[in-house]
Amino acid sequence: MFDLSNKVAVVTGATRGIGKAIALGLAEAGADIALIQRNLNEQTKHEIERKGVQCKIIKCDLSDLDAVDNVVPEVVEKMGTVDILVNNAGIQRRHKAVDFPMSDWDEVIKVNLTAVWKLCQSAGRVMTEKKSGKIINIASLVSYQGGVFVPAYTSAKGAVGQLTKALANEWSSLGVNVNAIVPGYIDTEMNSALIDDEVRSRQILERIPANRWGEPSDFVGPALFLASEASCYVHGHLLAVDGGWLGR
Ligand code: NDP
Repeated sequence: MFDLSNKVAVVTGATRGIGKAIALGLAEAGADIALIQRNLNEQTKHEIERKGVQCKIIKCDLSDLDAVDNVVPEVVEKMGTVDILVNNAGIQRRHKAVDFPMSDWDEVIKVNLTAVWKLCQSAGRVMTEKKSGKIINIASLVSYQGGVFVPAYTSAKGAVGQLTKALANEWSSLGVNVNAIVPGYIDTEMNSALIDDEVRSRQILERIPANRWGEPSDFVGPALFLASEASCYVHGHLLAVDGGWLGR
């Protein structure tokens, strides 16, 4: 049920953090992997190849929306098809709302929302045509909550949650599962400022029922579930992987 042999999975933002853990997890389950990277970094590719599957790097800066259009066609050309798409890459910009620079707003919306939409659309064309596919978008707690000093990120991630449901409504009858994972507070580079802030870091920890920050490895099981036949009747769901944060 969880076997991904002969599947081709596209993962964005897998140089480190959550995306790297997911890419390695899907490879462990047998999938060949296309890594979408803005700068060439072969570390994840080497670790994936050691698992005995194929891995190719497709170069694309996801803030270059014209370049994003070429990603899925290039994966299909080099690897034959696309079975699984994991829209993981994301960026964070923190400023008070009154000071928030337009350039940061635009960049966050491009990488965290518009590139996700474009990749869903182009992978969806391939997947709906062959009546099979799995799309996993990485949303956020701020798909539900407002966050503080992150209005662009909150806007983008809120929209990613809604986009996931909108696409599921269109594509679930066509054999394509579109779902999202909602990470809680995870110990990655994206959160280095929060982790270094002793007070904020303690306050966050006190609110997490599991009593620890999340780790990238916590995402392997949920991603494998949503990428495999195990989730064949799961559509438009936002799966929180948050140590219980949202339930508190
Ligand atoms: P990291 O900052 O550790 O990694 C982000 C990844 O995205 C890197 O591989 C980075 O590549 C890639 N990336 C960023 N911008 C671009 C771009 N323009 N083009 C191509 N690749 C790009 O993030 P996390 O692992 O923490 O987060 C992964 C996802 O989970 C994100 O969508 C994030 O918003 C979401 N999330 C994370 C949470 C957390 O607590 N960490 C909480 C909620 C959601 P490069 O090496 O080139 O920088």
